[in-house]
Amino acid sequence: MPEAEIHVIAPNIFPDFLQWIPGAEDILIYEGHEDEVRPIVEAADLVIMCDHGELKRMWTLGDVIRDHPTHRIMIDHHLDPEPGIADLVISHPELSSTCEVLLRVILEIDSLTQSEAISLYTGMMTDTGAFTYASNRPEIFELISILLSYGIDKDKIYRNIFFTYSPNRMKFMGYMLYVKLDVWKKAHTAIMTFTNAERRRFGVLNGDTEGLVNMPLQIQGVKLSIFLREDTEHPCIRVSLRSVDDFPCNEMAATFFGGGGHKNAAGGEIWGTMDEAVALVKKAVQKYMDQLKAS
Ligand code: 5GP
Repeated sequence: MPEAEIHVIAPNIFPDFLQWIPGAEDILIYEGHEDEVRPIVEAADLVIMCDHGELKRMWTLGDVIRDHPTHRIMIDHHLDPEPGIADLVISHPELSSTCEVLLRVILEIDSLTQSEAISLYTGMMTDTGAFTYASNRPEIFELISILLSYGIDKDKIYRNIFFTYSPNRMKFMGYMLYVKLDVWKKAHTAIMTFTNAERRRFGVLNGDTEGLVNMPLQIQGVKLSIFLREDTEHPCIRVSLRSVDDFPCNEMAATFFGGGGHKNAAGGEIWGTMDEAVALVKKAVQKYMDQLKAS
């Protein structure tokens, strides 16, 4: 049997702090390269989609996939995958990350290469905040042990992801925490907003805002952290939610922001101005006040 021709496609550009991942240079980016990449999708005998429970989360690439009748497999860990999204849906919301699902699937079929072990460990680590949430199941650590047996350097992977700030990014974070952080004490909620004007003013690069939403959770008593960011490509505000313990970010995201995700990490979008977005967020927080106030 001839070897399959495989292409890895991302819907849009991915953060700079992931560019070191083995094989990243071969990943095709759909947005901005539509004429080059669309024919590849349209010629595919099989499309395997990862980490997207809904086609709309792949933006315009999702439309191309929807319109192209071919075999589709979806591998994911989000709740409630879109009905009919694929012929085969491997969906495990109870698992830490799509990379954990993928690792389990691959181990059923074959062994790994070291590069694959590095990539899968990176996905498991980033999706659990370096194993600080959604990571209490003992099996996760058995899987990590298997990945380590491939000789991967997990400490270096951590540094590659989290210790790669430019001086500018560090200073920008200082600005966000000092000037933009607002704590709504009674609601145990913290909020930060970020506009495209600030993006230009501080020379903020793709990926520089990553992780900012987690920081207010370090404040004692804060149970919910909200980050609102003007999208660079679409006229909307991206919403990121993070929580501790049982506060259901995914429920709030689905009810108010047309999104979803997980209990402690979810997101969505608001089509409107930043002021309108903040007003909607206030409404959402009000609705969940009892839950936020409960200890
Ligand atoms: P982030 O805040 O990092 O953008 O997203 C956190 C989590 O929420 C991720 O697991 C992501 O898949 C999910 N998420 C973010 N935005 C959306 C959205 O618009 N729709 C859905 N269904 N999930 C989202």
